[in-house]
Amino acid sequence: MPSDVKSWGALEAKKPLEPYQFTRRDVGPGDVSIKIAFCGVCHSDLHVVRDDWKNSTFPLVPGHEIVGHVTAVGDKVTKYKVGDTVGVGCLVDSCRDCRECQRGLEQYCPVKRTGTYNGKCTDGTGPVTMGGYSDHIVVREEFVLRIPEGLDLAATAPLLCAGITTYSPLKHWGVKEGSKVGVIGLGGLGHMAVKIAAAMGAEVTVFTTSESKVADAKRLGAHHSVISKDAAQMKAVFRTFNVIIDTVGVPHDLTPYLETLDLDGVHVLVGLPDTPNPEFPPNRLVLQRRSLAGSNIGGIPETQEMLDFCAAHHIVSDIELISIDYINEAYERMLKSDVKYRFVIDIASSFSK
Ligand code: NAP
Ligand code: ZN
Ligand code: ZN
Repeated sequence: MPSDVKSWGALEAKKPLEPYQFTRRDVGPGDVSIKIAFCGVCHSDLHVVRDDWKNSTFPLVPGHEIVGHVTAVGDKVTKYKVGDTVGVGCLVDSCRDCRECQRGLEQYCPVKRTGTYNGKCTDGTGPVTMGGYSDHIVVREEFVLRIPEGLDLAATAPLLCAGITTYSPLKHWGVKEGSKVGVIGLGGLGHMAVKIAAAMGAEVTVFTTSESKVADAKRLGAHHSVISKDAAQMKAVFRTFNVIIDTVGVPHDLTPYLETLDLDGVHVLVGLPDTPNPEFPPNRLVLQRRSLAGSNIGGIPETQEMLDFCAAHHIVSDIELISIDYINEAYERMLKSDVKYRFVIDIASSFSK
């Protein structure tokens, strides 16, 4: 039997979220049903609710940093059983057959890559998939992650997007002991990048626009901070970094940051502004063999690897736990960079009221 879901969603672009009911599919042979305990609030949720990327379908229930417990499994499920503590990140399906999927890079599947929300829904329950601001979710077992023991569950939720989105490029561009890493923006993604890069042995510098975050940057594991609006501080890190992770979600001038890359350094964009960044002079790349790159979340095997890495290094997110009825204020605060450092919704208590 399909199941009724309690959730909060956006009925139209730019409207406040409100209570919303919909139906999830029955638990199929390869499915896992999860009672959601906590769901992190990603800036992408806000982009999609505001239809910044012009691809949102309403009604829409955001949320792709999901942790909870298995309540039912289909006949063919082998990896999970009732009671297991599990997570779901940004993906709930892909073609599972193409070159990218076979390499565990489902996030780059060109055939069928189904986002956890606002993805094309193929189970007949609606036009788009519905995310984790909801009391339960039904997901194919291949897209369910195992949450290692010993991690605080609420603070683990943000690893499912903010964690993997920063782990993946740090790993891909070979960050290791002694690497010099810059992180632009100390928000949800940025603070995870700091913790993970520091655990990989890197010397980490935070670029922030918020002077109030400098002390926190150090506490989170950064070795240095640069106020990015201060030209003298920017000049002091000229030609320093091997890898920069850029988490800024609004258009911004890359030129001053490119100047801080060392020879062969790479500036990796993970932030997704809705309009282009200003142009920059090509010589900022050419004269020091620098690269400008991008990176999209992470595949399922790498997400599991990241969770295990975080458990081994005792890494979780710094969170502010909220009830679902605070979500609209949380969004307003996120727009003002007033987040320390990830809102997480206490789903279980929000929906038991
Ligand atoms: P967030 O928590 O709101 O953090 C963004 C941070 O950017 C802010 O806290 C702020 O840090 C900094 N910032 C804001 N305005 C700025 C400006 N004008 N100039 C420079 N820095 C500015 O957001 P998030 O959840 O980390 O997400 C960040 C972006 O990544 C969003 O666009 C999101 O959609 C995208 N994203 C991409 C992926 C992917 O797979 N590529 C995955 C998840 C999210 P300071 O106060 O330190 O300056
Ligand atoms: Zn996200
Ligand atoms: Zn594929």
